[in-house]
Amino acid sequence: MKNTLHSIAPTPTGTQLNCKGWIQEAALRMLHNNLDPNVAERPEDLVVYGGTGKAARNHEAFELIVKALKDLNEDETLLVQSGKPVGILPTHPDAPRVIISNSMLVPHWANWKNFRELEAKGLTMYGQMTAGSWIYIGSQGIVQGTYETFAEVARQHFGGTLKGTLNVTAGLGGMGGAQPLAITMNEGVCLAAEVEEWRMDKRLETRYLDKKTHSIDEGIDWALQAKAEGRAISIGVLCNAVDLLERLIERNITPETLTDQTSAHDALIGYFPEGMSVAQAKTLRDENPDEYVNRSLDTMAHHVKLMLELQNRGSVVFDYGNNLRGQAHDQRGVKNAFDFPGFVPAYIRPLFCEGKGPFRWAALSGDPQDIYETDKLILELFPEDKALARWITMAQERIAFQGLPARICWLGQGDREKAGLAFNELVRSGKVKAPIVIGRDHLDTGSVASPNRETEAMKDGSDAIADWPILNALINTAGGASWVSLHHGGGVGIGYSIHAGMVIVADGTADADRRLRRVLHNDPAMGVIRHADAGYDIAQDTARKFRLDIKERLK
Ligand code: NAD
Repeated sequence: MKNTLHSIAPTPTGTQLNCKGWIQEAALRMLHNNLDPNVAERPEDLVVYGGTGKAARNHEAFELIVKALKDLNEDETLLVQSGKPVGILPTHPDAPRVIISNSMLVPHWANWKNFRELEAKGLTMYGQMTAGSWIYIGSQGIVQGTYETFAEVARQHFGGTLKGTLNVTAGLGGMGGAQPLAITMNEGVCLAAEVEEWRMDKRLETRYLDKKTHSIDEGIDWALQAKAEGRAISIGVLCNAVDLLERLIERNITPETLTDQTSAHDALIGYFPEGMSVAQAKTLRDENPDEYVNRSLDTMAHHVKLMLELQNRGSVVFDYGNNLRGQAHDQRGVKNAFDFPGFVPAYIRPLFCEGKGPFRWAALSGDPQDIYETDKLILELFPEDKALARWITMAQERIAFQGLPARICWLGQGDREKAGLAFNELVRSGKVKAPIVIGRDHLDTGSVASPNRETEAMKDGSDAIADWPILNALINTAGGASWVSLHHGGGVGIGYSIHAGMVIVADGTADADRRLRRVLHNDPAMGVIRHADAGYDIAQDTARKFRLDIKERLK
């Protein structure tokens, strides 16, 4: 149903409560914020990002969640089952106000076919990661992670900068749209294929993308010229990813780096087959979904083979967390699909070992000045962290807020609780106008089991062990997070991942101090413990430093 019938009310801002407490109010505002037209990819369908990642099952469920949050007392907890509110039960003030489970299926049934059948019956919803757990903050939420990934690529392969390099990718959606900005922030040239023009326009409007063209050759020529001049620029080309890669190969051009962020995890909704227009693809999708999926998977196999060819020619190629390799390998028998690595083992895992991950916060007041206050505080709290200072400065200059003003910072063990407590003090002292809501992506150090992504190639082979995200959700519930969620299938698709989310509100109270101290200690600690258990030295050192090593504790 389209927005004429069901438009989402604007996100409440300011200091007036619509609910019976700030925690419920935070959930209400963040739910709305996930569906703000400046934030969500398709708010009229309740789709936030990542293929069909939704914030609520349907419009009726959305309205009911809103009502429930307004009615919820400070000693009650709202239960949300795959985007639908199903109960309000008595708990206590330190318990989460909302507990969410999204897209869970019994493992034997956990595939897209069963999921889609159950979804069609109205029984479930795809929650992606932060879509169904109400802590999506637009492309900014991913941009620092993407920036860090490309910075690490630059350090490992190009002497610390992408200046004078050509970086090719595809997919300019909610997450993928961060790639052009992250690449130019690392001083490189980005050439990105995208089939839907409105997606490119959205990235141009929010200043994530610099230029667009309908001509593949023109895009390549612009990119080569900028590369020769050492100029950082991002160029979107309206075409299928495989057409861009084919043309690069025909013209004998080998980009320095190559990746992809189409929504390949979802062959029906997230990925466009080659050889047809967007309109033709949409018709085929409606009229013959099985054939669409067939063609989509064929194109993915072709796509991966082209990436492997460019890898052979010298490109640094990596998978960017969309299960493109998994689809080509499992569904189309591309045996060497995993010859190029995933971005986590290649570039991110050492950060996870220190408990670092995409920590984020948003100003519930809606006032950007509140975020600038928190930026100032972060710079004061961590003066020795030069990379962090550079990030905050660049973010202020180059990142447009979408929806509620927000910030992301990859902080690790020890630093997250320090920041959280300092934010609570900011609220208490009135230096910010309203409470600050603090959360993180599910793509974090201790919150996800995803063998083709976050837990690919673990040192001890524990890639598919999914106890960790469950422990994470349980300990965050016990610690008093404001809302806690447990999801299946985010990032890489149904059957491939289990992951947990948490959000905690700094409302300036002493109770919040206690909760923040527990939750922002325990949440990253799960990641340190998980990686230490898998045998990573950095994690074992971090565990000793923060007294997380159980054997030392029990000595
Ligand atoms: P999205 O659905 O909002 O956007 C996907 C984009 O890809 C769309 O704009 C679509 O038009 C385009 N596209 C699809 N097929 C194409 C093709 N063959 N050629 C060119 N363009 C094509 O998704 P998103 O939120 O941007 O996420 C993208 C993928 O990245 C998902 O699989 C998601 O799970 C994954 N992801 C990665 C990370 C990460 O940190 N790397 C984090 C979250 C999600």
